[in-house]
Amino acid sequence: MNTEYTSTLDKLNLIIKQAAKSPLYKTQLPLPRKSIVSLDDFARKVPFTLKQDLRDAYPYGGLTVSKSKVIEIHTSSGTSGRPVGSFLTKRDIEKSSMEIGKAWATFGVDEDSVVLFAMSYGLYSGAAINTYAIQSLGAFVVPASIVPIDKYIDLILDYGVTHIVAVPGFYYYLHHRMLERGIDPKSTSLSTMIAAGETYSEATRSEIEAMFNTTVYDHYGLVEVNTGICYECPFKNGLHVLDDYVYAEVINFSDPANPTIAKPCELGELVLSNLDKEASPVLRYRTGDMVTNLGVVSCECGRTTQKISRIMGRADSVISIKGVKLDPYALRVDIQKQFNTVKDGMMSIRVQRNRIHYTPVILATLNNAEHVDQLRDFVYRATSIKFDVQHMPIEYWFTNKNKAPLVEYVEE
Ligand SMILES: [Zn+2]
Repeated sequence: MNTEYTSTLDKLNLIIKQAAKSPLYKTQLPLPRKSIVSLDDFARKVPFTLKQDLRDAYPYGGLTVSKSKVIEIHTSSGTSGRPVGSFLTKRDIEKSSMEIGKAWATFGVDEDSVVLFAMSYGLYSGAAINTYAIQSLGAFVVPASIVPIDKYIDLILDYGVTHIVAVPGFYYYLHHRMLERGIDPKSTSLSTMIAAGETYSEATRSEIEAMFNTTVYDHYGLVEVNTGICYECPFKNGLHVLDDYVYAEVINFSDPANPTIAKPCELGELVLSNLDKEASPVLRYRTGDMVTNLGVVSCECGRTTQKISRIMGRADSVISIKGVKLDPYALRVDIQKQFNTVKDGMMSIRVQRNRIHYTPVILATLNNAEHVDQLRDFVYRATSIKFDVQHMPIEYWFTNKNKAPLVEYVEE
């Protein structure tokens, strides 16, 4: 056995025992009773957990400790159905702060840093859990959450914010508004921007870095497992996995009856297991996010961890509009090549579920009304689907919301 993996295997055996205390893994997704003997054995014997399994277990089916030990819950609602809940004990929050703190230390956060969250502090774990991690490093957090754009700018200027966290598209809006107010976006105290919560391209990253004269890092996580568990280092060649804390597999599900471990550099779905969580650990959770496994590597930054690529898309991204299959991410890339004002995070496809007779709509930020017709024609040529196109001002994407989904389902 590869000794490098010994501790991972030990942790997996412990977490299987812990998970088996919940109704979810006792009955719905039974786990092996005997210790697993290798990572292959783990992959053979431990079932995948789907988002639907966690929904079915809502509200308490995933709980593995007595309710009196829980001190916080986070949920993700998704677009439909019951939410998914993740519980945390005091120890879970201490552990998560310590582990995710490693990512923040890599982003240059220390006790002199001032970190502003331009993300919702609602039930979603991203802002709160990362805040605890940052505070464990002694840094000063500005929990701005969702406020009008001018308030963010005032907070940045008044408190000398060094690090800011938001979805990538938000930074275009921030830049736009700073210029309107006569503020040079390159001359503020900001040194580092964390762009998270959405897939974005290297071109978007470079553009944001140039607009603000900052460095932009990607940071990945999800409520079901934990926020902030994969992060970039200054070399920005893939995401480091906090692999003492979570176990990551990349699985090829192209034959759903016979999933296989994706070959190195082959695209597959990221599957995550908690390695250390008391309250509601999940095992082999199918994230739906597509990545390549870069393996355990000695990075130029000095860390030796498992690395994965940045998120390359969603496993379930293909949508059906009037019977035509469409990958919205690919369509956005095609549109961006022609219409340079359509940024990641600033385009939305509005569709209706289970309906044939309706006109889908593309909402996008364009230069002018003339481009509405051009975009409509372009998309029709590209997809053979007639869309309505609506030009949306840049403010639309960031007013009273965290982020705009690329695909928006409406009932009417
Ligand atoms: Zn590195």
